[in-house]
Amino acid sequence: MSLYEDALYQFNKAIGVLNVPEGYAEILRRPKRSLIVEFPVVMDDGSIKVFTGFRVQHNTVRGPAKGGIRYHPDTTLDEVKALAFWMTWKTAVMNLPYGGAKGGIKVDPKKLSKKELEKLSRRYFSEIQIIIGPQNDIPAPDVNTNPDVMAWFMDTYSMNVGYTSLGVVTGKPVNLGGSEGRKEATGRGVKVCVERACKDVGIEPSKATIAVQGFGNVGQFSALLSQKELGSKIVAVSDSKGGIFNSRGLDIEALIEHKKKFGRVDSFSDGEKLSREDIFSIEADILIPAALENSITTENVNHVKAKAIVEGANGPLTPEADEILKTKGVLVVPDILANAGGVTVSYFEWVQDLQAFFWKIDQIRENLEMMMNEAYTETREIAKEHDVDMRTAAYILAINRVLYALEKRGLYP
Ligand code: GLU
Repeated sequence: MSLYEDALYQFNKAIGVLNVPEGYAEILRRPKRSLIVEFPVVMDDGSIKVFTGFRVQHNTVRGPAKGGIRYHPDTTLDEVKALAFWMTWKTAVMNLPYGGAKGGIKVDPKKLSKKELEKLSRRYFSEIQIIIGPQNDIPAPDVNTNPDVMAWFMDTYSMNVGYTSLGVVTGKPVNLGGSEGRKEATGRGVKVCVERACKDVGIEPSKATIAVQGFGNVGQFSALLSQKELGSKIVAVSDSKGGIFNSRGLDIEALIEHKKKFGRVDSFSDGEKLSREDIFSIEADILIPAALENSITTENVNHVKAKAIVEGANGPLTPEADEILKTKGVLVVPDILANAGGVTVSYFEWVQDLQAFFWKIDQIRENLEMMMNEAYTETREIAKEHDVDMRTAAYILAINRVLYALEKRGLYP
């Protein structure tokens, strides 16, 4: 099955509980617009390489399309379609006035020089600009993209239109139209969900043990904030090269420093080395998958010992693994809720850019945590009311919001 088909499986489950007219369901199953761009970059050695990029806008019924751009060698149109689809539901779960989109370039950015990366980013953005804009579609960071890349995107768009447009992308550097608290935002949202999930499964957050798969931006801040603000013990962390375990709890600040210096976690001195796969079988109360999609499959799901899974990544469980976890009574806080902190602070950033008025960090954190808690509570209540899992409940919440807008607006012409 393709990733997009997997995503539809989750959607169709929720549609089964709701009374959605088939025509509307069919609109929501399909992306509104998919753009493929093939574009050249002159490499440092003078050779020309042609790259493939994508931007998919799944739905814009509640507002401009919104979603990140990833750089990854395995990126495909199918993957970007699924990620755009999830963004529609993510923004709706959070009640943000946005639709859903996603973009990607098929590239391994680690193999490019900084200059090549800049040229690649600028040319790609110019190519997709025909469907981008602060009122149309607002990109943001995702896997392997960061504030520097967002600054190049913003500058490229601004040069092309002839004036500085801060609101065209989010996740920009602070002091260049970026928002305080955007970098930590996804991790902060995950932390709120960890706290709520602990309570739901009857564990005191300060006594909880946590394993984190993936140690990029999301994994790092999820671990750091859960440790610092909840007092939870992070016993294991992994990245694409391996993992590290310490039953007394890893010092996350030191581990982040180590990762910055050496590009991996398994060589950290204060713990035992793990293989990449070992992370899933760790004895921990909470598992946070914060890497790529399809990480937990029928191959490894039976090793999972956690009482709750908080999805820092997009689509980390295959539908089959998800069903197995459900029968085992594991609480799964779904991606479209658990990792929505990032897009929520992106929304704050966009609002600040449009108003040219910038907020203090405390205001960002307070509003984010309030909105995450609200969305969690709403999802939990729907789950109880319909006797469904949290993922189906989050979809019900989101689909109802999108459907309302769709019906109220009516179909054009
Ligand atoms: N890439 C992030 C996500 O998957 C953030 C998107 C955004 O801020 O627009 O939610």
